[in-house]
Amino acid sequence: NTDVRESMYLVSEFAQKYFHDTLLNSEEGKAIGLSYFKERGFTNETIKKFGLGYSPEIWDAFSKEALGKGYKLEFLESTGLTINKERLIDRFRGRVMFPIHSMSGRVLGFGGRILGNDKKAAKYLNSPESDIYHKSKVLYGIFMAKQAIAKQNNCYLVEGYTDVIQFNQSGIENVVASSGTALTPDQIRLINRLTKNITVLFDGDAAGLRASIRGIDLILEEGMNVKVCTFPDGEDPDSFAKKNSYEALLQYLETNAKDFIQFKASLLMDESKNDPVKKADLIRDMVTSISKIKDRIQREIYIQETSRIMDISEQVLLNTLAQLVQKDI
Ligand code: ATP
Ligand code: MN
Ligand code: MN
Ligand code: MN
Repeated sequence: NTDVRESMYLVSEFAQKYFHDTLLNSEEGKAIGLSYFKERGFTNETIKKFGLGYSPEIWDAFSKEALGKGYKLEFLESTGLTINKERLIDRFRGRVMFPIHSMSGRVLGFGGRILGNDKKAAKYLNSPESDIYHKSKVLYGIFMAKQAIAKQNNCYLVEGYTDVIQFNQSGIENVVASSGTALTPDQIRLINRLTKNITVLFDGDAAGLRASIRGIDLILEEGMNVKVCTFPDGEDPDSFAKKNSYEALLQYLETNAKDFIQFKASLLMDESKNDPVKKADLIRDMVTSISKIKDRIQREIYIQETSRIMDISEQVLLNTLAQLVQKDI
């Protein structure tokens, strides 16, 4: 129902303005939220560009304000901004706020981060699925990035809100985040409207590596080109960009972004060089990725390349590929 959705958009936009204003103008927001963002290195300009905010500790501050302005409880609930209608409890309390926008710039929902690094509480809390917020169809930062993605003809794909923001501040604007959900075909199709080229930049940890590997086949299945650039252990794009100049960052990305087949091959060099069984598994895995590529000429070229770098005959690779492609049909 379009009227219902429009009302949900309006209350979400009001919430974004409320959290942003609270961050910049309230005593609590300035003392807690703004100083947190400053510590992370975000400038006022960046905070404005991304519409960042702060939600007060008081348990019903936002809900009361919204009801007072005439927004209906029904839509406060359906957007998840209010979690208990009997007692009016705000979902987001005492968190710094990251509004999530659609491709056309409407506010769909929020991610809220706790201050500090308390290991007990969930670090990020997000708006629930709703009629306007479908997590699997949204990419954080796409509205701010779309022009740069088209212009650069490449999209950097990162994991988190702060990775997107820190890259922007460093001067790299063609960047979006999957924000905690495993990458989906719908998310990849959003990028596909703007460019055929994705460079995956996931965190330098085991989870980031696994997520990069999963992402590769999905991107290839959409008929797009994929590169992967890893970060040193324990770094993510945010921490790395914060430590380096724009030039050093760009230089790092350009020298370390590997074509997916090179990336997969490098996994072998790291762990299973002298283990024939592991090497065989990896080669099968590489051919599986190649089988996702739609373009036959590209498939052929990747087979040749795999044959060369893994030192195995093209014929056996082509046989394996034929079996896999047949299974797909
Ligand atoms: P920060 O730098 O603020 O500590 P991050 O972005 O590096 O955060 P990661 O732990 O690398 O955080 O997680 C990547 C992304 O996954 C986050 O930006 C967030 O979107 C999502 N995420 C992380 N933890 C949670 C959680 N507990 N609940 C929901 N989403 C989460
Ligand atoms: Mn991580
Ligand atoms: Mn991270
Ligand atoms: Mn981080």
